[in-house]
Amino acid sequence: MIVIKTKEEIELMRESALIVSKTLGMLAKEAKPGVTTDKLDKLAEEYIREQGALPGFLGLYNCPSTLLCSVNEAVVHGLPTNKPLVEGDIVSIDCGALKNGFYGDHAYTFEIGEVLPETKKLLEVTKASLYIGIKELQINNRVGDVGFAIQNYCESHGYGVVRELVGHGLGKKMHEDPEMPNYGKRGKGKKFMEGMVVAIEPMINMGTHRIKQLKDGWTIVTLDGKPSAHFEHDVAIIDGKPEILSTFAYIYETLGIESDEEDEFRQKVLVL
Ligand code: MG
Ligand code: MG
Repeated sequence: MIVIKTKEEIELMRESALIVSKTLGMLAKEAKPGVTTDKLDKLAEEYIREQGALPGFLGLYNCPSTLLCSVNEAVVHGLPTNKPLVEGDIVSIDCGALKNGFYGDHAYTFEIGEVLPETKKLLEVTKASLYIGIKELQINNRVGDVGFAIQNYCESHGYGVVRELVGHGLGKKMHEDPEMPNYGKRGKGKKFMEGMVVAIEPMINMGTHRIKQLKDGWTIVTLDGKPSAHFEHDVAIIDGKPEILSTFAYIYETLGIESDEEDEFRQKVLVL
């Protein structure tokens, strides 16, 4: 069942999403060679609690951490460890926050120092596919339109689109209907409606789309050991159009990146 949100509820969801955005912006400063994902996890938990929110993942499905940190061939659901990140790694940091009864959930794949050009390309294409998918989130379009757009773009670059893990509706629960696959067929699946809020999160592999789970019961890795990238935004349908509730602006501010990729999806001025 799809739970439609009121404008007031969407504003509360924006608040939760922005707490995650700010957390990722704070982590952008810290994610360097030599730092452990355990350390990032501690910093994130402290920061989220300081904002009057609760870590959204901690305890959910027995998740032991605030962050899910997926390094290199890890796709998603990597648990933080005491192993230092090294130059050339990529790490998807996925983070949730719960405030006013609503979840925020978004993710960014960070470069640790200088990464290989082909890895940079994977990150660029995956991030671009996120916005290509979000563009399809128009009233009367369908779930399959988003999946098709992401899949078509990523496969045109020769990448593998993960099938087993998908985006999702978001609200008072972390995972609500509908499921939002990153693959699909135009015109198929549920119709989008005013007031829907979803998390769109392409998980794109440099090689095969096939994956496996590690023995820790959490970490998902690529079957061929090649790198994987993951970016996630929370998006509401407002006045028939997609509006991104989360933002990478805090990350970009930290990293000195100029970007206009979110501009068309913001009807409101974001106060940084
Ligand atoms: Mg997430
Ligand atoms: Mg998610």
